[in-house]
Amino acid sequence: MNYDIIVIGSGPGGYVTAIRAAQLGFKTAIIEKENLGGICLNWGCIPTKALLKSAHVFNYLKHAEEYGLNKVDNPGFDFTKVIQRSRGVASKMSGGIQFLMKKNKIDVILGTAKVKPGKKVSVVDAEGKTTEYAAQNIIIATGARSRELPNLPQDGKKVIGYRQALSLPEQPKSMIVVGSGAIGIEFADFYNTMGTKVTMVEFLPNIVPLEDEEVSKHVEKSLKKSGIDIMTNASVESVDTSGEGVKAKVKTATGEITLEADILLSAVGISANIEGIGLEEVGIKTDKGRVLVNEWYQTSVPGYYAIGDIIPTQALAHVASAEGITCVEKIKGIHTEKIDYGNIPGCTYCHPEIASVGLTEKQAKEKGYEIKVGKFPFSASGKATANGDVDGFIKVIFDAKYGEWLGAHMVGDGVTDMIAEAVVARKLETTGHEILKSIHPHPTLSETVMEAVAAAYGEVIHI
Ligand SMILES: Cc1cc2nc3c(=O)[nH]c(=O)nc-3n(C[C@H](O)[C@H](O)[C@H](O)COP(=O)(O)OP(=O)(O)OC[C@H]3O[C@@H](n4cnc5c(N)ncnc54)[C@H](O)[C@@H]3O)c2cc1C
Repeated sequence: MNYDIIVIGSGPGGYVTAIRAAQLGFKTAIIEKENLGGICLNWGCIPTKALLKSAHVFNYLKHAEEYGLNKVDNPGFDFTKVIQRSRGVASKMSGGIQFLMKKNKIDVILGTAKVKPGKKVSVVDAEGKTTEYAAQNIIIATGARSRELPNLPQDGKKVIGYRQALSLPEQPKSMIVVGSGAIGIEFADFYNTMGTKVTMVEFLPNIVPLEDEEVSKHVEKSLKKSGIDIMTNASVESVDTSGEGVKAKVKTATGEITLEADILLSAVGISANIEGIGLEEVGIKTDKGRVLVNEWYQTSVPGYYAIGDIIPTQALAHVASAEGITCVEKIKGIHTEKIDYGNIPGCTYCHPEIASVGLTEKQAKEKGYEIKVGKFPFSASGKATANGDVDGFIKVIFDAKYGEWLGAHMVGDGVTDMIAEAVVARKLETTGHEILKSIHPHPTLSETVMEAVAAAYGEVIHI
């Protein structure tokens, strides 16, 4: 069977690529060995947000009196049902991809794919039958899995990765979370809110280490206040699972300690799925565990492309999708733009939420910019006060000389929906002036962005 484009993997990289390819008139097939939608829909972005929503609602119930409502006596939950809801949301979204494939006349091939020389792909289906397909262009989007450290081998029961954390049969009483990137933080927040005693261990001096330092410090304070124990500058040296729960030896600046918990969640990053997919046979080059590509996602072998978590760009769903779209548009030969990796928003959906784009204050200074920084706290926002959630702030960084918007860093309820303003503004190369002259609706949380920009220019109104 011959196709114009075969996409391997149906995550947000693969399925979006396939749809854009079909829109552009390519005869397209997509191959998937698990469920349509990849990690994002089945084991990542979506089911985690469903769990966090349950935690959020539970938290509201506990604080009903603060809103003038009757106290909810003994608010509780059924952990299995909370997990079931999250799994249900994931499978609904996966079903939606099935519909989109059909609508766009994309052939869905279920099985495990391997690339072959001569622009061919072999697929082994569930019955073990192998079928070979050919295509003018093969796009590899096989994604990634939870990274396993040698001293933290995952047994899936007591030392777990994100898949198990999303589907535990019962709620652990205590949990050690190793790693405080977005994945670690979101699970720590969910389990802590539901009543699990959570201890977080981070190797670096700050949690959410990629964020602006002020944001990291603020989130650390908020999470500690909510009951999470946080250890920074600390590393898990070994784990012992021989007893009832888990014992983790942790090296800290002041010596070694042993933490005990029911379960340990390893959230120390991801490993790209580059093994066993035929890369060596075809001669596709990799480096440090990722597939090497040029700016149009071509691998070292013509006709083979790679996008998403398997290449060394930011491991985010929206990045994977954008790469796939860019890749097929370039194959089609239409005018398309390269992705600006300096303008990718990153969001973490803990409470308070975190969202950022562009340079941190430290990075801006290191690059030699003379900067103007503006900050606006949610405690001065009418909408945040009405919402009863004033934890957080907006921080914006401008180049003092030409007014370029260098970075936006947000922490607080709703900021993951607000960061897009900064992304669009930066794309349009606006200065603070255009933001101040773009009237933001009142009362909204979005006003805080305008106020933070005003603060950078010495014109802030409400503080
Ligand atoms: C817990 C968690 C939460 C996350 N939350 C967010 C978030 O809020 N926002 C965000 O932007 N990102 C989030 N991410 C990251 C996001 O999920 C990934 O960046 C994204 O899924 C990458 O998309 P992808 O298409 O490259 O690969 P994937 O989504 O990993 O999809 C790859 C697909 O390829 C299939 N596959 C692999 N090998 C083969 C083969 N040989 N043959 C056939 N099929 C194959 C796999 O089964 C899989 O379905 C999260 C990740 C995790 C783990």
